[in-house]
Amino acid sequence: MMFEFKVSEMAEEFGVHRNTIRNWINAGTLPATEGPGRKYLMKFDDYQELCEKFGRKPHIRPNSHVDLETVKSLEEKNSELPVIELGRFAQKLYDDPSWGDSCLTCGTCASACPISGVDGLDPRKIVRMAFLSMEEDLIKSDWPWKCTMCGKCENVCPANIEIVQLIRKIRSRRKRELIPGPIQRGVTTCLERGNNLGIPKEDFIALLEGLGQELAEDGCPGFATPIDAHGARILTQVNSKEPFAEPDDMKWWWRIFHAAGESWTISSENWEGVNWGLFSGEDSSMKTVVGRIVDNMRRLNCEVLLLPESGHAYYATRYGLNRWYPDALKEFKVATLFDLLLGYIQGGRIRLDQTRHPQKTVYQDPCNYGRKSLRTFGQGYFEDARRIISSCCSNMVEMEPNREANYCCGAGGGAWAMPFSAERIYYGRMKARQINESEAELVITACHGCRDQLQKSLVQEYDLEVQVKYIWELVADSIILPKVA
Ligand code: SF4
Ligand code: SF4
Repeated sequence: MMFEFKVSEMAEEFGVHRNTIRNWINAGTLPATEGPGRKYLMKFDDYQELCEKFGRKPHIRPNSHVDLETVKSLEEKNSELPVIELGRFAQKLYDDPSWGDSCLTCGTCASACPISGVDGLDPRKIVRMAFLSMEEDLIKSDWPWKCTMCGKCENVCPANIEIVQLIRKIRSRRKRELIPGPIQRGVTTCLERGNNLGIPKEDFIALLEGLGQELAEDGCPGFATPIDAHGARILTQVNSKEPFAEPDDMKWWWRIFHAAGESWTISSENWEGVNWGLFSGEDSSMKTVVGRIVDNMRRLNCEVLLLPESGHAYYATRYGLNRWYPDALKEFKVATLFDLLLGYIQGGRIRLDQTRHPQKTVYQDPCNYGRKSLRTFGQGYFEDARRIISSCCSNMVEMEPNREANYCCGAGGGAWAMPFSAERIYYGRMKARQINESEAELVITACHGCRDQLQKSLVQEYDLEVQVKYIWELVADSIILPKVA
């Protein structure tokens, strides 16, 4: 694994002048090589050794749950790949050899990827191996599963190589029983029982009704959860982790719907909003799950489909609708949470109190709603999110980089469910650094994966002193509800 640093950062860390660091590099005392962007790269081992010499702890905090030995053992174990035999261009992953010819081998993708070097992972290497028909090596490798499918590499590629599609294609080739973590189990359960966690219909309905009663007693008089409401304007799908583990989190959206006087409903069947077929690489499962949502829209005769639960739910469903159900898009609209929330705010359907969130606030752009939506659908949700947040917060600042160039939180591509937590946390160091540099006290995001990675992992691993909220949670917490008589 490689450690990336700037001379000025290293000088500050070790309490020496910048020239001293440069002299160490020139003399070989500090075994680093120059990389792009005036940065240097050195082996993580060497960095640790230097820290030991100076009696310092490495950047990863002493109370980190990252097992440094595990991280260390990941180093370059696959870097010594055997020389391949030329002339065996079966081109299984790509039939058209000109596809691989497009790659300039420039390495821009590798320098943009926050996890390059870990376990030998490197997007340029993956592209070259695919071109050289090293399909079996790629399928066996865990690289495609450690990649978060964030699209950062693809975004900077001057040759427009579709690296994320390639990663997904490689994932699709692995035997289903060898897919890491519970991804495939979730897909199978969803196909058999209508949601990833197999929650029975009667339990789901009882939970929704109970939560609705609680909300009616908590500032929303007359509220009752509209289950299977035929002819409602909006159908909203649900992320099964909410009814399973965080049911109260559903009330934020419900509170907003109530305040806006919205006509909406939840289906009692096939209500799963997330689609793990995107992560497993399996098109047939992905298509089935999207098809069930189309069936729900038709059965309940709704006008607008809202996928409010996570970036990947929106991306997978929108992608599936475009690809397999283009006719359905003539029957109903697909709304993002941004469209809906901004419509409520600008249309005066909800009123917000900005004084409740005076602290310095940043927005974490989810890859799927931002960079990847822009690339795939021609529209990325960057400014709408900021308008919504600015309506609720008086002190919004930016992380650098942001919008299209933002870093993934480290939990994309199903990483939260994968058995590679050391890599996920290591990836998240970029996000932790961005947040620290912004000096924010509140981080807002629009994705379950980002929220969980930040709130349940990075805050502890990197000692971040921030609160994390969903954007719809922020809106619900800012709403001025009419006084109950
Ligand atoms: S950035 Fe694009 S062209 Fe350059 S090595 Fe990576 S895939 Fe190839
Ligand atoms: S998609 Fe993201 S994690 Fe995967 S190789 Fe590209 S930059 Fe790295």
